[in-house]
Formats: sequence, structure tokens, C-alpha cells
Amino acid sequence: MAYTIGPSSYKPGDFIHPPREGDVCDFHSQVESVADIVGETDSMGSEVMQVCEECRERISHHVKEYQADNAIAAKYCEIHKGMGTDVRQFRDPEEGSHGRFYDTCKDCRKKIVDAFLD
Ligand SMILES: [Zn+2]
Ligand SMILES: [Zn+2]
Repeated sequence: MAYTIGPSSYKPGDFIHPPREGDVCDFHSQVESVADIVGETDSMGSEVMQVCEECRERISHHVKEYQADNAIAAKYCEIHKGMGTDVRQFRDPEEGSHGRFYDTCKDCRKKIVDAFLD
């Protein structure tokens, strides 16, 4: 059965400690589970699903696809005027709380913050 754990460093898609004996897959009530996989995670903790071999394969495939999509998805960064990864709305701390937001890639955000802290 699915269960929840408190706040942890696990990310969705992580596999954690082996299941206890006799547990069954959350998706196939007749099949013994072989792994616990971390699902939805928020500040309160994570949902953990118990899955059989077949479901483990299926889910880890989805997770990999999802992570690959996110890693590749490049967007336009207004700071270096080109495509960047993990582009988000970011306000230059130099401009204070009234500054505008720029679409800023991960690298540029790091540079801006580093420069600001220098
Ligand atoms: Zn299953
Ligand atoms: Zn950039």
C-alpha cells in the first residue's frame, strides 16, 4: 500500500529502501512489490508507492522521460540573449524590489547572484 513519509531529501522518482515482506503492488493487488518509489513530494513530505517489477520498469521509464524533457527544454534568456536551460522569471537584486523580471537562465541567475554578493 502507498504510504507517506515526512520531509526528506528524496525527489519524485527516487527509489528507497526495499519493501517489507508480503507487501503488494499498488497497481496489481495480486503481485508482490519489489520496490518503493517516491511520488508526489511537498514541504510536508512525500507519498511513497509500492510497485512490482513491471510497474517499477514502467514508472522509471516515465520518470526518465520527464527528467530528460525538463533538462532539454531550453528557453530564451533575456540576459545573455540566447537559449538557456531552466529559464525562470528572475529579478536582478541590484534593481531592488521595483525592478522588472527578466526571463533568466540558470547560468545567468548564478552569475547575477554571485556578482551581487561579491
Ligand atoms: Zn504492478
Ligand atoms: Zn542566460
